[in-house]
Amino acid sequence: MKQIIGPFTQMITFRHTALKGPLKASDMYIVENAGVCVDSGFIVEVGPFEDLVKNKAISSVMEISSSHVLIPGLIDCHTHMVWAGSRAADFERRNSGLSYQEILASGGGILDTVKWVGQATKEDLKNQLHQRIIRHQFDGVTTQEIKSGYGLDAQNELKMLEVIQEVNRQVEVDLIPTFLGAHVCPKGYERVAYLDYLLSEVAPKAKLMTNRADAFVEAEAFPVHLAQPYLMGMKKLGFDLTLHADQFSRGGAALAVQIGAKSADHLESTTFKDIHLLGTSNTVAVVLPGASLGLGMAFAPTRALLDAGACLAIASDWNPGSAPNGDLLAQCGILAAYEKLTAAETFSGITFRAAQALGLTDRGRLAPNYLFDAIAFPTHDYREILYQQGTLKPDIIWKKGDLLIDGTT
Ligand SMILES: [Zn+2]
Repeated sequence: MKQIIGPFTQMITFRHTALKGPLKASDMYIVENAGVCVDSGFIVEVGPFEDLVKNKAISSVMEISSSHVLIPGLIDCHTHMVWAGSRAADFERRNSGLSYQEILASGGGILDTVKWVGQATKEDLKNQLHQRIIRHQFDGVTTQEIKSGYGLDAQNELKMLEVIQEVNRQVEVDLIPTFLGAHVCPKGYERVAYLDYLLSEVAPKAKLMTNRADAFVEAEAFPVHLAQPYLMGMKKLGFDLTLHADQFSRGGAALAVQIGAKSADHLESTTFKDIHLLGTSNTVAVVLPGASLGLGMAFAPTRALLDAGACLAIASDWNPGSAPNGDLLAQCGILAAYEKLTAAETFSGITFRAAQALGLTDRGRLAPNYLFDAIAFPTHDYREILYQQGTLKPDIIWKKGDLLIDGTT
C-alpha cells in the first residue's frame, strides 16, 4: 500500500553521493518541500511533495504540518552496548594520572567489566541493553552494531551474542552483532593459547549468530603479529572482519587494509602513511569521537582521512570504559567543529558510509529501493542539527516504513 509523506522543508537524500572522499553541501542532493512515496517499507520515489501528491494513485497521505528536516535514520556502526556495572572509578583514576593501558595492565579496565558481565544474568543484561537501545532510538539511531567481548570464554561470549539476538527480536531497530572474543586476554591465559581456544572452541558456535568478527589490535591486547594469524583463521571460517586499530599505537590500520577488513576503527594514532593507505583502500575508516571525549585524547585525523579519499564513518563506541557518553549526534557536532567537517561529510559518516562499514546496501540514503528508515527534526534548516550539538532531537522516526515515534501529535 503506497503512502506519501510530507512536505518536509528540506530532505537530505544522498541520492548520488560518493562513497569516498570529501563532500560539500551540494553533494547531499537536498530536495526542498519534499515528499517521499513509501510502499511495504521501501522508498518508491522522492521528489517535490506537490508533484508526488498530484501524479500518483495514492492510498494515503501523512501530512507533516510544521517545518521539518528529514534525513536517513542514523547508523551507529561500532558499539559495546551489552555490559553490567560501571567504570566511573576508572574515569576518576585516569583523571588522577593513570593511563588507560596502565589500568588494563594492572588487571582492571575491560577485565572489571568482564567480571561483572560474568556475574550478571542474561535477563539483567537484556534489560540493560533494552534501555540503552530505547535511548539511542530517541536520538535517531535506527540501525546499530553491538559487539561481544566482555565474556572472554565460550559461555559468556555466547551469552552476550544471545542477549543481542534476543533483544533484536523485541525492538524495532536493527541490531547487528559482532564477535569480539579477541578483546583482551583473560586472566590465567597465555595470549596465543587464548586465540587458539577462540578459533577452535568459540568461533564456530559464534558463527551461528553472526558473520562479523573483531579484534583489539594493540600492544596491551593483541599486537599485530598475534592478531594477524587469528584474523586470517577467522576469515577462513567465513567471518567478515573489522578491527580496533591504531587507538594508542600504529599497525592495526595497515593490517586491516592488508587482510581486506570491512573497517578499521579508532585511528587516533594513525599517521600519514596509513592515512593514505586507508584513503586508497576499500576498508572503511571508522572514527570514534566518544572515546576521545571519554579518555581526554586527541580526535582521530578525520579531516586528513577524508582528504586522502577515505570512506569515513563516525560511531559512538558506546561502552562503560572509554566512551560512556553514547550520544552520537552530540559527538558528531563536536567532532565536526574540531576537525572542520562539513555537514555533508558528518551526516554521511552516520548514514550510508556507516552502512558500508556494516556491509549493508539497503539503507543510509533516501532514494528509490532503499528502506524507509528516516528521522525528522523540528527545524527548517539542516545546519541547525549539528550546530546544536545533540540537543536538537528528531521528533518523528520511521523504521522500515513504520512510524516508530511521532512527537508532533
Ligand atoms: Zn570499541
